[in-house]
Amino acid sequence: MDHPLPILSLQVREQRYSCHGCGNCCKDFTVQLRARDLEKLREQRWEERLGEPVTVEFRDRTWLRQRADGACIFLQEDGKCRIHAEFGFAEKPTACQLFPFVLVPDETRTRAGLSFACQSVRENKGAALSTHLSELVRMSADIPETRRPTDRLLLADALHAKPNEIACIEATMDAWFSRTDITLRDRWDGFAWLSTSLARAQLKTVRETRFRELLQLLASALPEELHQLGIEHASKRQLKLLRQGVFARLEDVKIADAKSRGRLRTVLAQLVRSSRFSRGKGAIPDIAQGFLKGARFELVAASAPLSDSPDANEIDMLFARYARAMLLGGRAWGVGYYGWPAVRGLQALALNVACTAWVARARAVSQGRSIALICDVEDALGRIDRAAGRAPWLGAVGERVRLEYLRLDDGLRRILRSSL
Ligand code: SF4
Repeated sequence: MDHPLPILSLQVREQRYSCHGCGNCCKDFTVQLRARDLEKLREQRWEERLGEPVTVEFRDRTWLRQRADGACIFLQEDGKCRIHAEFGFAEKPTACQLFPFVLVPDETRTRAGLSFACQSVRENKGAALSTHLSELVRMSADIPETRRPTDRLLLADALHAKPNEIACIEATMDAWFSRTDITLRDRWDGFAWLSTSLARAQLKTVRETRFRELLQLLASALPEELHQLGIEHASKRQLKLLRQGVFARLEDVKIADAKSRGRLRTVLAQLVRSSRFSRGKGAIPDIAQGFLKGARFELVAASAPLSDSPDANEIDMLFARYARAMLLGGRAWGVGYYGWPAVRGLQALALNVACTAWVARARAVSQGRSIALICDVEDALGRIDRAAGRAPWLGAVGERVRLEYLRLDDGLRRILRSSL
């Protein structure tokens, strides 16, 4: 590469990260392998040494093999990676080295976003992010597309962003999430109102300076405007869309399961689980390796919103840090989120938080509590962010239609207020 883009460390100063070796990512993620990873595995001669394959072909791609419980074949009993232990960190597959960082190029630079699927990221533990920069530069050599300039970002469908329009969204939203005088519920209601207002605006005729003025005007009306506008409870239809959104984010068929069951039985089982989420009655079906085992839909609906939690302040700080990391780390739109325009990416972020709140409440119910604590929200955010920007179906037409419905009739605001 002649002139690789410079890498920009995540500009959320209070966010920290170092790996604390919990092994959760190795127990859970399916790791897709690149040609260079396959070369390294061959050079390390694992198949001869272990007497079994270490990769698996699935849907025209090659993945690291997992054990029956879904853990990586290289995860040792002591929770450490065997490749790392024997050959060193830099010899692991690229995706394993990079996680939880996500390198997201745009026209002028590559942002180093962060995945909240990592426990240390959620708990904000470790070193300042800038200390990881030289390692990120090294790792990016194996993934050259992360340092190549992309086309101009889209502001809305078929509308390329002008210089500073994206920066203006980032600055406005960052300021909103940095305020300390907003309640958890108002913060997300305000964000949903801002993003829905932008989605409704005729942005073709409101560009550059006028766009900045529009955004400033909307933001300056908050939070007072929310109280003037009032809002009804979420309708049955909106709550159904929320549960369907949760299902789409939690559903995770393991490669070994899909292979042993066959495509037809796998799809049928998915349909059964999906229709139970749509109905929202009875026991929550087994999903995400028993993550919500024992919970019933009715009890989740009757559980307290997150604002009533004794940990509401901590939950607010976690969500605000997550939102800022998504927005400033390039994971809310463009290459970082299915190539989506910024305005739709904002709505998806609001829906991701509504789904996290629902899952946190379901998690609490599954543990016999009627009110969620920060630990439930952390676990839920880990599950939701694991899929966000990664599961192909969340970038497909079904999710776009879901967001379109939720844009109408204050759907996003109503589901957020009812969960938070
Ligand atoms: S989840 Fe995060 S802290 Fe845990 S092993 Fe993976 S990278 Fe390390």
